[in-house]
Amino acid sequence: MIDLRSDTVTRPTAAMRAAMAAAEVGDDVFGDDPTVNRLQAVLAERLGFEAGLFLPTATQSNLTALMTHCQRGDEYIAGQNAHCYKYEAGGGAVLGSIQPQPIDNAPDGSLPLDKVAAAIKLDDPHYARTRLLCLENTIGGKIVPLPVIKRLTDYARSKGLVTHLDGARLFNAAVGLGVAPREVAAGFDSVTICLSKGLGCPVGAVLAGGKDFIARAKRPRKMLGGGMRQAGVLAAAGLYALDHHVERLAEDHAKAQRLAAGLREIDALKVDGPHTNMVFVDLPADRVTALSAFMAEQGIQILGYQPRLRLVTHLDVSMAAIERAIAAFKQFFARH
Ligand SMILES: *Cc1c(COP(=O)(O)O)cnc(C)c1O
Repeated sequence: MIDLRSDTVTRPTAAMRAAMAAAEVGDDVFGDDPTVNRLQAVLAERLGFEAGLFLPTATQSNLTALMTHCQRGDEYIAGQNAHCYKYEAGGGAVLGSIQPQPIDNAPDGSLPLDKVAAAIKLDDPHYARTRLLCLENTIGGKIVPLPVIKRLTDYARSKGLVTHLDGARLFNAAVGLGVAPREVAAGFDSVTICLSKGLGCPVGAVLAGGKDFIARAKRPRKMLGGGMRQAGVLAAAGLYALDHHVERLAEDHAKAQRLAAGLREIDALKVDGPHTNMVFVDLPADRVTALSAFMAEQGIQILGYQPRLRLVTHLDVSMAAIERAIAAFKQFFARH
């Protein structure tokens, strides 16, 4: 099977499983798990923060960050397409009583500064208290340029807001830009990293921030059910990934480049990308179902957000698999 639906589909490698099996563990709710503590420290250091907190998912990490930065009745600004606004079941509002203020994303994935400025509310009893600006990098696979990020975080700070980066795929941005991860995280008060996307872990996320912020974040994490016990088994996968699966993200980006170039040879397709490890393809809406069925017959899984496809490269698709996928697309469109 060639699975291009998402980079979340990777399975832990034999070497990662061996690292997990060998992990030293303790009760992490008591702070006793040495492997969790090491992962939190290593990742915080790489991102330029004082402390880290291990969580089951990046969704929970983002919600924990929202609930730590904001009180009930506060407001966070985020993009219409931001994961922490659009794809997390409204958790900030539902569980945190935090009002979202969505803003249309700019074409580069950032937020237009003038719209952010206009959304920040006066200190007036009519309004929620605007407290937090959330940005995302990469977003939809796109790397948001760092100078654009800096303008936004500087502006937010000048207005008394705190800032959170949903950096679920931050390492894709760092590798794509050829900069250190801490440069992508610079200027933010907190950052979420997802370990189970391109980094190839079976589960896990880390929230990084200042010491005091992370100490406070332990309460919402516990409230949300994210206080795990012998979690070192999972954290060991994260440590393994940081040592072995970061630089190789460049291979995923190269596979996405090849995929985009191959698909551009097909007239019926409009190809957007590659953006790091993602390629988006617009095709006539009436062919999506037939295409998906044809590809499934060829052992290739694709995900259609009709009429747009998102194809994602990762650890478990080889360059040979990409060539097979391109050939299958060409075969389908030669007939249809
Ligand atoms: C996948 C993703 C998340 C959520 O990650 P889970 O670990 O699946 O909860 C959050 N933000 C972004 C940008 C993501 O891509």
